Amino acid sequence: MELKINNLSKTYSNGVKALQNISLEIPNGMFGLLGPNGAGKSTLMRTLATLQEADNGSATLGGIDIFKQKNELRQVLGYLPQQFGLYPKISAEVLLNHFAVLKGITNKNLRKETVHALLHKTNLYAVRKQNLSGFSGGMKQRFGIAQALLNNPKLLIVDEPTAGLDPVERNRFYNVLSELGENTVVILSTHIVEDVKEMCTNMAIINQGQVLLNGNPLKVIENIEGKVYQKTILKSELESYKKNYQVISEKLFLGKPIVHILSDSNPGNSFSAINADLEDVYFSQLFGNNKNI
Ligand code: ADP
Repeated sequence: MELKINNLSKTYSNGVKALQNISLEIPNGMFGLLGPNGAGKSTLMRTLATLQEADNGSATLGGIDIFKQKNELRQVLGYLPQQFGLYPKISAEVLLNHFAVLKGITNKNLRKETVHALLHKTNLYAVRKQNLSGFSGGMKQRFGIAQALLNNPKLLIVDEPTAGLDPVERNRFYNVLSELGENTVVILSTHIVEDVKEMCTNMAIINQGQVLLNGNPLKVIENIEGKVYQKTILKSELESYKKNYQVISEKLFLGKPIVHILSDSNPGNSFSAINADLEDVYFSQLFGNNKNI
């Protein structure tokens, strides 16, 4: 199964170009859609989930034309929106059973089996009798995944699933997603580089509705290997470093800025070479002058 997106464009009525000729080919496995807030990630995901229309372009999942065969797509779609706001005072098991009814699993035994299997898969079986209203953020997100998996989807879309989760909960969430196997196209949108590094076999960086880079995370890191240098400087020096070097990121460490720069050769001036990281790739795409690395 492959998801093919061709020249997708969307301009909102206020003139914002949220998607500008997006084309991507996404195979089975985890695909990370990485970009800052406002990049167009949610717009792309809602469009692929057939919740809103694009102005132009097409998309197919295997033999399904997503925009022309919406019902067919919805039968093989699992979607966890950015805000999954339903946390009533009923138990996880009861609500998941209810969703299973809505998704058309009419056989009672099969439904019970499916619900229990998903509660195990998402590590919620032990708390299945507890009310969702008392769940932590991470438990709620895992419940969201359980409901999205009810129809055994071929395309699973999860929009910013780790926003607001603490590191332990994020890890649990990663583990659940990474066990989904290779038979599903999973698109995960995030502005957190770590999410993509930990989980995804393929990725794209998007900004202002455009794809800046698309590839395998390790390969895209390789492309800038040997070109990233770092130095701890004084705050007062930052502006002049930005003028003289291709600064891709600056971070404070113990109150002092550490800058990362891109350079084809050793820049001297006490810079030290470092191993490139996915963050360096991300920042170089968003903030570097040379966008074509
Ligand atoms: P992301 O998910 O990457 O944060 P979005 O797809 O939510 O990005 O937004 C992309 C751009 O489109 C932003 O500039 C946002 O303000 C704008 N936008 C999103 N939804 C709407 C809407 N319904 N009407 C007008 N502008 C919108």
